[in-house]
Amino acid sequence: MDNKRIYLSLSQQSGFEQEYIQKALETNWITSGGPNVNDFENQLQNYFGDEFFLTALNSGTSAIHLALILLGVKTGDEVICQTMTFSASANPILYQGAIPIFVDSEPETWNISPEFLEIAIKDRIKKGKKPKAIITVHLYGNPYKVDEIHDIAARYDIPIIEDSAEALGSTYKGKKCGTFGTFGIFSFNGNKIITTSSGGALISSSNESKEKAIFFATQSKDAAVHYQHSEIGYNYRMSNVCAGIGLGQIKVLENNIAARRKNHIFYKDLFDSIKIVTLFEVLNEDYFSNYWLNAILIEPNLEKNINNETLRIAFEKADIESRPLWKPMHLQPIFMKYPYYGNKIAEGLFKKGLCLPSGSNLTIEDKNRIKEVITTFFSV
Ligand SMILES: *Cc1c(COP(=O)(O)O)cnc(C)c1O
Repeated sequence: MDNKRIYLSLSQQSGFEQEYIQKALETNWITSGGPNVNDFENQLQNYFGDEFFLTALNSGTSAIHLALILLGVKTGDEVICQTMTFSASANPILYQGAIPIFVDSEPETWNISPEFLEIAIKDRIKKGKKPKAIITVHLYGNPYKVDEIHDIAARYDIPIIEDSAEALGSTYKGKKCGTFGTFGIFSFNGNKIITTSSGGALISSSNESKEKAIFFATQSKDAAVHYQHSEIGYNYRMSNVCAGIGLGQIKVLENNIAARRKNHIFYKDLFDSIKIVTLFEVLNEDYFSNYWLNAILIEPNLEKNINNETLRIAFEKADIESRPLWKPMHLQPIFMKYPYYGNKIAEGLFKKGLCLPSGSNLTIEDKNRIKEVITTFFSV
């Protein structure tokens, strides 16, 4: 038995990347932008449909930042953000000098609560400032309550930035995640379902905003023969070498989704008979998850020393990586001073939760090792 470490979510080469990288090097297109970038954008556009416009960027974080800029978010503005997420959803709010307002999750999809979203909007308006934008997240690939959330946002006329960094390939009522908001963003970081080493994309439904995004992402150069700038510029465009990796990766997107969903079935079977464990699952058939990461909640048993941390340690002893859920943003030292609306649902998830190895390349042997740890741990 080989005892290599099993990771949470590792990138996996498709084998198709090399030819595109090679071509970038041979043609000396090794800067930001270029033919691979255009091809990668076109492939994404084919995937999402002609009514959408995709801009390839150097990270998901820069995509969120550009979405805020395109929505005109400025110093002192307020932006609502789902608290149960990775810090990259919220950091760009601070880049703009704006104020994050955190909203709790609901227990069914673990994502932004419609109830507390509306309470937050009403209270911020009452206090004198209507939020400029809402950042929603499809946690671990699991779609949020899209209809309810977007109805509320529409009623108050607040645009949504849909953080779909983890949800490429997930759908709600048959429509792809990332396409519901004014802007959507994707990440192609190394741990995501496909990668460009580091990269991201912004999706919108107008070519005008795509052109504006490219303008900001390439240092806001005005039309002049010399370099002239009337607005703050950013260096956020995807590199042509990275886009080559993306072209090799996008070929296996469907395979990766199928593999991750198979991992989910593996965990479902495994935890079926373990009553103190709840596996994170879609709510009903309206929701389709890519199951980027599998997560569980463990009802602690003090007597038997069973909880999420003791299971994590048991995995670690077998050289298997697992990790607590994202620690909610309103509990993070950097974000603690900002307003929060909720009822400690996200806190409760964080206290009981654990993310499990979910890579597209988990082998049968890997799964047997994971199963062994879980069976032993819960049989005490
Ligand atoms: C990964 C991730 C991001 C950031 O993407 P990068 O490409 O790493 O900048 C943003 N939001 C969520 C929820 C993520 O998981």
